[in-house]
Amino acid sequence: MTTTAARRPTGRAVAPAVLIGVTLAAMAVLLARPTGLVGELAYLAGYATATALTWVGVSRQPRPARGPWLWIAGGVSLTMAADLTFQILAWTGGEPDVSVADALWIASYVALAVGLLRLSPTRPGRGVEVEAVIDTLVAVVIAFVVVWELALDDVVGDATTSAFVRAVWAAYPIVDVALVALVVRLLMTRARSLPLTLLALGSMSWLVADLGYLIDDDGSAATGLNLLWMLALLLVGAGTLPSSGRPDRRSQPALAERGRMWFVLAPLTVPVGFMIQGQVDHHHPNTAVMAGGAVALIALAGARAGRLLHTVETARREVQDREHLYRTLAANSSDAVFVAGPDGVLKEGQESLARLLGVPPEELDGASAVAGQLTVDTEALAQLLERTLSRPGEVLEMETPLRDPDRATRWVHGRVVNMLDDPLVEGIVANVQDITDRKRVEEDLRHQAFHDGLTGLPNRGLIVDRTAQAIRRAARRGTDPAVIYIDLDGFKSVNDRFGHDGGDRLLCEIARRVSRTVRPEDTVARLGGDELAVLVEDNRGEDGEAMATAERILRTLEAPVDIDGQSVTVSASLGLAVGEVGGSADDLLHDADLAMYRAKATGRARIVVYDASMGAEAGEALVLDADLATAMDRGQLEVHHQPVVHLGTGAVVGFEALLRWRHPRLGLVPPDRFIPRTEETGLIVPIGRWVLATACADAARWQHLGGEGRQGLSMAVNLSGRQLASDGIVDDVRRALAGSGLPPGSLVLEITETSLVADPRSAADRLRALSALGVRIAIDDFGTGYSSLAYLRQFPIDILKIDRSFVNTIDRPDVMPPIVRGLLDLGHTLELEIIAEGIEHEVQRDGLRRERCPLGQGFLFSRPVPAAEAEDLLDVVLAPDERVSL
Ligand code: C2E
Ligand code: CA
Ligand code: CA
Repeated sequence: MTTTAARRPTGRAVAPAVLIGVTLAAMAVLLARPTGLVGELAYLAGYATATALTWVGVSRQPRPARGPWLWIAGGVSLTMAADLTFQILAWTGGEPDVSVADALWIASYVALAVGLLRLSPTRPGRGVEVEAVIDTLVAVVIAFVVVWELALDDVVGDATTSAFVRAVWAAYPIVDVALVALVVRLLMTRARSLPLTLLALGSMSWLVADLGYLIDDDGSAATGLNLLWMLALLLVGAGTLPSSGRPDRRSQPALAERGRMWFVLAPLTVPVGFMIQGQVDHHHPNTAVMAGGAVALIALAGARAGRLLHTVETARREVQDREHLYRTLAANSSDAVFVAGPDGVLKEGQESLARLLGVPPEELDGASAVAGQLTVDTEALAQLLERTLSRPGEVLEMETPLRDPDRATRWVHGRVVNMLDDPLVEGIVANVQDITDRKRVEEDLRHQAFHDGLTGLPNRGLIVDRTAQAIRRAARRGTDPAVIYIDLDGFKSVNDRFGHDGGDRLLCEIARRVSRTVRPEDTVARLGGDELAVLVEDNRGEDGEAMATAERILRTLEAPVDIDGQSVTVSASLGLAVGEVGGSADDLLHDADLAMYRAKATGRARIVVYDASMGAEAGEALVLDADLATAMDRGQLEVHHQPVVHLGTGAVVGFEALLRWRHPRLGLVPPDRFIPRTEETGLIVPIGRWVLATACADAARWQHLGGEGRQGLSMAVNLSGRQLASDGIVDDVRRALAGSGLPPGSLVLEITETSLVADPRSAADRLRALSALGVRIAIDDFGTGYSSLAYLRQFPIDILKIDRSFVNTIDRPDVMPPIVRGLLDLGHTLELEIIAEGIEHEVQRDGLRRERCPLGQGFLFSRPVPAAEAEDLLDVVLAPDERVSL
């Protein structure tokens, strides 16, 4: 490999090297034998090899770029033909003033000129073009003055030859002038390269030889001129060889700007020089030509200077405009952008920061002034400054509250970068944003996530959390926490009698009473329906504080509750369990639940304390485990589908795959009953793989059925945290796609916030890998976790699924609960697709439509159904007059 690669260019260099060698040899022979046949033959031979070299060069130019080189080679060949003709005429005795050879020579210049013209890039930037034209004109004027003074003057004024002959002779210097101009133009527009240099040198030698010929009246310089012509041809020939190094497109033209200024100014001395010389040796240069040349050159230099000033002015204005733009942007942005010195004192951008903080700019001269007026966490600020100083170039972020004595607390988010090393900045650049609104939504969400909407009590999540903390603290404190599980007796009949509203009012009243009977440090939670629980943190006392609390609760319920003017009495069954060191919060609640069942079973309105025998019944879970292990192999698992509907048209745009277990004894088991177990045992990984494959295959089949809109049909599959953490997940997804032929863009993976918080970094990596496959990621049950929204932004999320519990709070189509609106706004700002879950009523659908929520899912449209039925849903759409555009 290496040897052939090394040999190839060497092989390609042989032919040109030989041709160059022969040409040089011919030149040497000519030098040794200037006159006679040998010299003449050497001259022609050198011309022939140089011409051949030119054609070799052309053949090696890349085909699309060959055009101009062909013209140049043509020009060289014509010269060769002209010299041959001239020589033959000379040998045969006739050596007229003007002959066919002159026609060939003139033609060769024209061909050369066309080649040079076409080598210049056709459209450089427009500004450059004007300068190039001026500079080229300078070249033309100066070449004309020189040529006139040296040759034309005499030729034109020579009355001894015929007008035709004079015209032909005069044509040479004139085409020479044109060639000078073209070479100059080329040098100004093309990047410096070896071929270009050779070409320029060759053309120049050619012109010098031509001029020399016109001046050399007595033929004394004939040999030198012949050598010069040969050299010219050799240089042009070598110049046609493509250079090995690719010239950098952005590099400077061969003639740089500074050189070009001298190029324009220096020629002014030439006419002056000729006039002075004329004074000295009493030869009178043509005044009109000299003066005209000088005037033209001065005018061109003036024009050039004007252009230069114009360019400078334009550049200056551009800089000004840009600065103005940035200032305006900074001044009108709601963000504050400012620069501080290493000491933290502001250097620039006071106004924008002052506006954000709502203080007069004068007070911002020192950072301490801000700290004095607004209570910021100065210590955190100092730490941030320290970290910034130690890590130049790194973006650091911080969120902090601003406690303004006169106003509500606001929150800001700042990004700072140490750019002290950047000579244009020399400071710490900060960008501060007011994020109060976002914080407020976050806080609402957090509250919502941990509280029950109806009673305002903490929910299951929060009491589990607090129980876990209490168990941990118990080890230190020496007393165990206890949990009381409360279930109302006969709540269903209250609901039947007074409707849901009545039932809700009863629940609120009970919640209030229970809350009043516990100590401040204890927690009362609503677990759902008519179930409450109390966490008694410190269960000291003779019988235990928990028992005392439970008794108080029983008593407080004895008093009747007034509903719609009727008094109603309810009782409750209470289960009590005491936690133990090392036990889990879930177990403790579960134990209290079992005790409560026993209380119900043994006659209601009583308290039962948990004991270990009750746990035996929990053994049923183990049976379930054993069955689960074989459920997949026995074909007891099924994937059902719930449609995702476009709220505007009612069209089904996709499905969510939901797992079901058809248990031989228990019937259809919902996922909530067995998926948590499979997550604990890891069985969810193979099961989830099967769900993925099945769901993808279903979706691919439906897409293939064709029909309007079916190609874009999406399929959402739920991924549990355990699956996301498993190593093979990316491969599983890739295989499911490949096996079914479903386009990656049609698959949506649904992840809950909770499965992201355990190990956010690796979760983010996994999600990015999945996202790279082309599948989309949805955040499921959004709003129920309590991760911050800023936090979610580190994951590549495409879709937000607003949890059912929020949709549930919509009970009027014209009033959107603020939290739902907040979630929709959030989705819109983050440019995510939004799906509202659990739409059960038309008011909910209509309300969501009004808020421009495009997609929804819920029993209103369809419950999850087996694959065979799902297929039929594909054709369901709203009648045209019911549709709305979203
Ligand atoms: P999810 O992902 O939030 O799924 C939506 C659940 O809401 C489904 O319950 C669905 O039947 C129910 N639903 C849909 N519309 C409505 C409505 O209008 N009203 C009400 N009340 N409920 C509605 P399902 O099928 O029982 O699934 C429960 C959960 O089990 C799912 O919640 C999901 O987290 C999990 N799950 C289901 N299939 C799988 C699976 O294949 N893999 C994993 N890892 N989890 C799954
Ligand atoms: Ca889901
Ligand atoms: Ca969900």
